[in-house]
Amino acid sequence: MATEAETTPPQAAPVQSEQVTKNLVFTLSDGTKVKRRVPRQRSCNEPAEKGKICAGHLKRWYFFGDEVKQRLGADAEVYRCENCKTLYLPAEGEEPRTGTLSW
Ligand SMILES: [Zn+2]
Repeated sequence: MATEAETTPPQAAPVQSEQVTKNLVFTLSDGTKVKRRVPRQRSCNEPAEKGKICAGHLKRWYFFGDEVKQRLGADAEVYRCENCKTLYLPAEGEEPRTGTLSW
């Protein structure tokens, strides 16, 4: 006896694309994107299917190849999305620029 309501309001999808493009730092030769995190970002904001975002967990990653090392240095702080493998760099202002400051 339950009648299906067909008046479900359309979900207004938040516009993510501008931010995604803005935070792209460079793309590796194998197509892996390297992006800048926004402050306190802990999950991936890459676009996924059907207007959703990836939302994969960003974890510290140490196994980047020579291409990343050449661009960022061998001891670069790199994070990687567990889901889509996009790489992330620390947000500007979130980390000290040199190793002289500690947490
Ligand atoms: Zn992702």
